[in-house]
Amino acid sequence: MMAQYLGLKADFPDTLLLYRMGDFYEVFYDDARKCNALLDITLTQRGTSAGQPVVMAGVPVHALESYLAKLIKLGEAVAIAEQVGEVGAGKGPVERKVVRVVTPGTITDTELLADKQDAVLLSVSGHGRRHGLAWLSLTQGEIGLAECSDAELPGWLARLMPAEILVNREHQPAGVMRARFPVTNRPGWQFDGALGQRKLCEQLGVANLQGFNAHELTLAHAAASALLAFAEHTQGRALAHVRSLRVQRASDLMDLPPATQRNLELVQTLRGESSPTLFSLIDTCKSGMGSRMLRQWLLHPRRERGEAMARHNAIAALHAEGFEPLRDALKSVSDVERIAARIALRQVRPRELTGLRATLRVLPQLRAVTPAALRDATLNPPGDILELLERAVAEEPALLPRDGGVIANGFDAELDELRGIQQNCDGFLLDLETRERARTGIANLRVQFNRVHGFYIEVTQGQVDKVPMDYQRRQTLKNAERYITPELKAFEDKALSAQERALAREKLLYEQVIDALITRLEPLTALGRTLAGLDALAALAERAVTLNWCRPEFVSQPCLEIEAGRHPVVQARLAETGGAEFMPNDCRLDARTKLLVITGPNMGGKSTFMRQVALIALLAAIGSYVPATSCRLGPMDAIHTRIGAADDLANAQSTFMLEMTEGAAILHSATDQSLVLMDEIGRGTSTFDGLALASAIATHLHDKTRAFTLFATHYFELTEFPAKHPLAQNWHVSAVESGEDIVFLHELQAGPASRSYGVQVARLAGMPASLVRQARATLEALEARSNAEDDQFDLFAAPPAPPPPPEPSELVTALDGIDPDALSPREALEALYKLKRLAKA
Ligand code: ATP
Repeated sequence: MMAQYLGLKADFPDTLLLYRMGDFYEVFYDDARKCNALLDITLTQRGTSAGQPVVMAGVPVHALESYLAKLIKLGEAVAIAEQVGEVGAGKGPVERKVVRVVTPGTITDTELLADKQDAVLLSVSGHGRRHGLAWLSLTQGEIGLAECSDAELPGWLARLMPAEILVNREHQPAGVMRARFPVTNRPGWQFDGALGQRKLCEQLGVANLQGFNAHELTLAHAAASALLAFAEHTQGRALAHVRSLRVQRASDLMDLPPATQRNLELVQTLRGESSPTLFSLIDTCKSGMGSRMLRQWLLHPRRERGEAMARHNAIAALHAEGFEPLRDALKSVSDVERIAARIALRQVRPRELTGLRATLRVLPQLRAVTPAALRDATLNPPGDILELLERAVAEEPALLPRDGGVIANGFDAELDELRGIQQNCDGFLLDLETRERARTGIANLRVQFNRVHGFYIEVTQGQVDKVPMDYQRRQTLKNAERYITPELKAFEDKALSAQERALAREKLLYEQVIDALITRLEPLTALGRTLAGLDALAALAERAVTLNWCRPEFVSQPCLEIEAGRHPVVQARLAETGGAEFMPNDCRLDARTKLLVITGPNMGGKSTFMRQVALIALLAAIGSYVPATSCRLGPMDAIHTRIGAADDLANAQSTFMLEMTEGAAILHSATDQSLVLMDEIGRGTSTFDGLALASAIATHLHDKTRAFTLFATHYFELTEFPAKHPLAQNWHVSAVESGEDIVFLHELQAGPASRSYGVQVARLAGMPASLVRQARATLEALEARSNAEDDQFDLFAAPPAPPPPPEPSELVTALDGIDPDALSPREALEALYKLKRLAKA
């Protein structure tokens, strides 16, 4: 048996192998130790193999799914070896085979998948400067392709949030290995451009990839080759439902770097929770597929605004014609997208088919309440799908086909007959009993059944002499004899085999129903997409009304004008806690005002304001209405944010290093169409360093990048910035002092803040009174000293010119003085250092 196990394990060296033994799945050796650590299951030792004790652990068969879910969550891949041969047939252990490989990126089981999130399998080819990307969600059916530079890779990873990444074992891309996603190594030869192109063509049923504009992406083809090979390997079959391809170019999308996604808390809070976030606020979808689509929209906003405008129109139409009836109808809709994929993978369960049937049943009503502008042909799938499901699938089928009772009565004559036999059993036996009593004159004769002996006629000992010739003895008891007759034997054969045959027949019929449905995958997948889209739009329409949002307007000139904007998540939280009203604020950025220096007390609302501007721009870009009374937006290519967050301890970067790294990335990639949020840049270092850096960064953004910039700062010196920079303005969040206390108004007002209120905020936070008094005194002393100093230093003066490079002659002279043959090692070293210094200069 160990030989068989090790043979199977050899094919899955990097995967946990669960080996079926009766009622348990066993894991051995290192796999067992790993499971012991991850699942907290007990290690045992049994027997020896090759002289070594066999270390093992096991999970009961009935608990498999919950253990699988845990392992997948931890990023493990699991191969499941089942007993496929007949027990007791032949010598040696029962034949076993790996029937299923479950990995984080290829799960398709409904129980293991998150409802509202796709499990994306991503493959990355290439190393060094350029990468090819190919990705797929197995329950969705579309392949994505892209190519990117090394610097863009983290952005793609953040956007796709893959559940698993495939990389070339021989050239692991550093950018992927640094990110915290589960990685699976694949052999290098699987990353082959030509092979990938051929596989893609086969998969999509096309002669070449020109129609998809994907023919030149060789690196992405290489990634696709490994992607498809792995997906098929884990599913054990071809992917019939994967029929479409989408090429994404970073230049088509609004750039949302990882820091932006994190800082704006789009789908995850800074603490890593899923709510409250922008997504948790807007996702009131009725179906998992609607939520997944909305999430996709949120993380992939497009620069081109046609699609967003179409969604604005759709929301307007839903408002005009009413969205509640549509949302009601959507309640009865199942996850058609996933069901279609599971049909293709032949994994679909009976209850999913009834879910699909229920969806198809409500379609006419759903169409009727869908605004005309949003109705299309995909909402009219071929009628034969519903007709088949009505005829074939029982109204309330069992969970699994192997339990029987899945195929409807009347669908198949043979099955009906087999079921008839089972059901008529009782009637037949009563009838037989009556007839035999009459024939033999034995009044207490009984016809009965038990599992061991099957059917029999029981006659008490006192009546045995009345038994006719055709009764054959089956069993003798103390008080009775049991007999069988040819008629009863014939019935027994029929009845017992009927049950088995009925189950076999049902399995066959179920497979045939799946075969028939597979020919209808395209309209089913299209229906899933349309329903998901309607669900997402109806949710946005509902949010707009409930939260009182307005329709944004897109214009071609550069601008970002918001009236009475609100931070939707902060506002919702205030409403929930019954706290203060949210104070709406305007924002006006255009060709003449590109940078706002925002000052004001801690807790005054600077971060909230900056984030709300970004969220409003993003919501508009995905086609949603926005939390404001009016909003005009020019073109926008990116949202960059540098907001002090938790230290990146895992990456061993200091707060300041991280701040500078993120800042540098922004300065390199932002354009005059980007929105940049800078929150207290420079605070991670000493005051002078920080101030110098902050002012240099503001100057760079203002003079060179010319991005729309919101620049919140604690450095009062920076309020002088607008005086010397025509595109900049001072704004501050207001607060009023009453006595020693401070009240935040959260209102954005023109001009610089008059002072900071750090000491008051510290008091509010409950610092000891004596400490607050001491701080206040120190502050006054410091202020007096700085006022007294006649500080002529100009923070924004042009930088001094760099020193002229040394004359080449200096180098030559340095060389002249050296006689290589006469140098001691020490002198040689000194000479070398001297040259190095000069060369550097
Ligand atoms: P710090 O400088 O300490 O980071 P800040 O000025 O950035 O502070 P925020 O974090 O934006 O301040 O806001 C602090 C709190 O004030 C928020 O959590 C929110 O509860 C409240 N707040 C902010 N803006 C508003 C507003 N416009 N209306 C009502 N309450 C607000």
